[in-house]
Amino acid sequence: MTVLEAIQKSTEFLAKKGVDSPRLQTELLLAHLLKMPRMKLYLNFERALAPSEVDVLRELIKRRSQREPLQHITGSTSFCGYEIAVNRNVLVPRPETELLAELGWQFLLASSKPGEDGSTPNSQLSTALDFCTGSGCIAISLAAKCPDAKIVATDISADALALAEENAARNNVAERIEFAQGDGFAALKEGWGERPREPVLAGNQNGSPGVSPRQFDLIISNPPYIPTAEIATLQPEVLDFDPHGALDGGADGLDFYRLLASQAMAFLKPGGKVMVEFGDGQAEAITNIFETEKWIVEAVKEDYSQRARILIAGK
Ligand code: GLN
Repeated sequence: MTVLEAIQKSTEFLAKKGVDSPRLQTELLLAHLLKMPRMKLYLNFERALAPSEVDVLRELIKRRSQREPLQHITGSTSFCGYEIAVNRNVLVPRPETELLAELGWQFLLASSKPGEDGSTPNSQLSTALDFCTGSGCIAISLAAKCPDAKIVATDISADALALAEENAARNNVAERIEFAQGDGFAALKEGWGERPREPVLAGNQNGSPGVSPRQFDLIISNPPYIPTAEIATLQPEVLDFDPHGALDGGADGLDFYRLLASQAMAFLKPGGKVMVEFGDGQAEAITNIFETEKWIVEAVKEDYSQRARILIAGK
């Protein structure tokens, strides 16, 4: 069987099974198998596949036909150009979230204040909190794009954090990200001091709750935002493979925004910003939630398909 024949046959099969963009999915799986960029397949249409390659391709296509996400089959995805491993413990990073990360690093770069000799004293390093970090994709992009930034990344799931740490190491930014496990802002207190690292972050070091909490220039989050009852209606790739804890935003999907709006201010430096991603149709409700808690909503940004997707607020 040639590359072109394999593409045609597999595309037809995936289409029959109701998989979106069956040709693209087939090409990406075949490119993964043959360890070549997808575009290179087009120069190799006549290449004959070895019987062992056909066997492996059949297996990959079968998994995809059972609606396992492409990223789970290949084991990773690219986020802002960084390779992020994924598994069933983390949400597969989405392209819309790249926009959130980009707004985040642009703000951090603008808020870092190098000293006169060009170096940045620890006390002035810009700091960010990635709240609900999942795979670590946002924290890792911020750390990679902002060499003068220190990031704290929290999640309730220890399994997610284990993968996020691996992803940070894989992208050479592990030294500048502190991972802290816990529920909401409790992660900061529970994680406090557990990982002996350079005392680089502003704020007190003993973690006594309520006393001058550690403060950040940026609090960034793509929290779970699907209303609980809608989860069952999601496509199988999401429903069966993304962890529900990473999707479920409570009865109306807005629980995490209420939590951030009511608690994040104490963790934000003067002049700092909160940037959050949200779901379709949630812009107005989320703006209200933040304004009710006395935030100044500075912008609501649209994603690549012109849907309101990100809210930026300051105190
Ligand atoms: N912050 C991670 C991401 O954007 C995880 C988000 C989540 O688990 N809801 O992919």
